[in-house]
Amino acid sequence: MPTLRDNLASLCKSIKYAHENSILSQTLPLLTAVSKGQDSAKIRACLEAGQRIFGENRVQEAVEKWPSLKQSYPDVELRLIGPLQTNKLKEAANLFDVIETLDRAKLAVALADIMPRLHKPLRCLIQVNTGNEPQKAGIAAQEAGDFIRYCLGELRLPIDGLMCMPPAVGNPAQHFALLRELAARHGLNTLSMGMSGDYETAIRFGATHVRVGTALFGARTPL
Ligand SMILES: *Cc1c(COP(=O)(O)O)cnc(C)c1O
Repeated sequence: MPTLRDNLASLCKSIKYAHENSILSQTLPLLTAVSKGQDSAKIRACLEAGQRIFGENRVQEAVEKWPSLKQSYPDVELRLIGPLQTNKLKEAANLFDVIETLDRAKLAVALADIMPRLHKPLRCLIQVNTGNEPQKAGIAAQEAGDFIRYCLGELRLPIDGLMCMPPAVGNPAQHFALLRELAARHGLNTLSMGMSGDYETAIRFGATHVRVGTALFGARTPL
């Protein structure tokens, strides 16, 4: 049985390999270890193996698991990759370092409001619904330009880049390409895209952050 340390090492190796074989001159993509549905013992093993960037998709679960982990590892970067309700915003803003799921004007306004009162930096990514799937969060692709301009210009939000989750079926490549094109058009550098099944493709299309759960930790407890 490979250990978590083995999984992490081989994952980092294949990220490096995909990066070396990408024709884009991007920086080495960073691994966001998606620890949702994983217990603290597994997360600790991952921390002990050297991983420092983690993603969680539910504020409540993260608030239960991470404060004690962060005490042992203060240099951890925690990224919210799931939906954020405005009533959870304050809690999320105090725990997370990056909100990857800024997906609507109401949340953007609330973020801009809370930003000056935070005691630590908080960066954001805008989530784009590249497949325009009705059940999926994210700003529709055709509205993304206006929304990005609004967040950067009017609200002066610290937007690092864009995030997407392509439709579960079909080729994700065109969605990654679309996200990259959108980011480039607005001078944004961070592209969070690619999960266990498609991170190598995402890297070929310029991902700067890949979000990998299952391929690193194994199966997780369902929500
Ligand atoms: C769960 C999740 C992931 C990781 O998915 P895996 O297939 O387990 O790698 C990545 N991104 C988001 C937004 C997720 O919710």
